[in-house]
Amino acid sequence: MKKSLETLCVKENYTDAKTQSHVAPIHATSAFTYSSIQDSIDVFTGKAEGHVYTRYGNPTIQAIEKKLAACEGYGINEETYALLTNSGLSAISTLVFALCKQGDAVLTQHGLYGGTTELMKKQFEKAGIDIIFTDLKDLDATADILKKNGKIKLIYMETPTNPTLDIVDIRGLAQLGHAAGIETAIDNTFSTFYLQEPMTHGIDYVIYSATKYLNGHGNALTGAIICKGAESRMKIWESMKLLGTNSNAWEAWLLSNGIKTLALRMDKHCANAQSLAELLNNHSKVKKVNYPGLENHVGHSIAKKQMKKYGGMLSFEIDGKLEDAIRFMDNCQMGSITATLGNVDTLLLHPATSSHLNIPEDIRQRVGISDGLIRVSVGIENVDDLLSDFSATLDAL
Ligand SMILES: *Cc1c(COP(=O)(O)O)cnc(C)c1O
Repeated sequence: MKKSLETLCVKENYTDAKTQSHVAPIHATSAFTYSSIQDSIDVFTGKAEGHVYTRYGNPTIQAIEKKLAACEGYGINEETYALLTNSGLSAISTLVFALCKQGDAVLTQHGLYGGTTELMKKQFEKAGIDIIFTDLKDLDATADILKKNGKIKLIYMETPTNPTLDIVDIRGLAQLGHAAGIETAIDNTFSTFYLQEPMTHGIDYVIYSATKYLNGHGNALTGAIICKGAESRMKIWESMKLLGTNSNAWEAWLLSNGIKTLALRMDKHCANAQSLAELLNNHSKVKKVNYPGLENHVGHSIAKKQMKKYGGMLSFEIDGKLEDAIRFMDNCQMGSITATLGNVDTLLLHPATSSHLNIPEDIRQRVGISDGLIRVSVGIENVDDLLSDFSATLDAL
């Protein structure tokens, strides 16, 4: 029977014939033993199934990797594999070190998650991997760069982006990559496979900060890489094993718990975000709302093609000064001021005084991060509570 994505998320897929444990237990062990040296040789050489050492793999981690692979590969005909890492950023470094070497280049966009931009500029460039930033929304310009630069090994994209919710055309970029013989990777953290299925558009690698929506409860840091084919998996696995970027059984288990309610949570995140975006869009104290579900959003038509719904993230610009944005942040009761996103409760971030504090003001303004911009990770609370609190807090400015 072909199961739906919602069902794949919910179903426990851990099996243990000996204990018949229903829910995956936490295998809190660094290593695994063998009954004989021959058993050990068989496992080490891959002839028999089994585990060696938790940096190489662990049954709790493997259970959630299998689920992630099945969910991300939903709707495509190739075999998919997932590797769980200890954070979203380590998923990116593990992937890039698996695919690129000194002298290669990565083509990417402005406005990536801040940590990703820093990782690329500060660490990858140090390793001799050139990072080229361009506007990936412009497919012609991107094609031109690919034609002129033979060193590019990977196109790395993120959509929607943070905090301005820009949209890039996933299928368009995957096609450009394939035509040029260059692989493509996407950070699918904001949408998850429930809202956006990049591999069905031809993307080769999907990475996650599973710390966010996949976990959903803000109690663990994890990341994931999903790829196609056993050969690809082997390359990335080796990179993970040697960089030591593996996850651990406890955080894998928390992720396994969270992911079961992903579809339910995402539906509510999306519905609440749409209602809040519409309220903000009609409020006199708001200058601009960035939400791909609004028809006036520049990326709306592409988002409509590649997203099932528009996600739980939005940002808006208060029509006022820095002090007004600060007053909103201090007085809004429904949102906690915090730097993460994708939890069940509503979270607020003021980029100008936090995530983008060290970015020169002119650059910040140019990329749409004004003093009045507030990012909201819309939670799954009662929608009327959210709407009345946001409305009253704005009215009082
Ligand atoms: C949080 C985040 C990351 C980094 O993930 P960590 O788990 O914090 O390492 C990468 N990309 C996006 C879009 C994120 O939101």
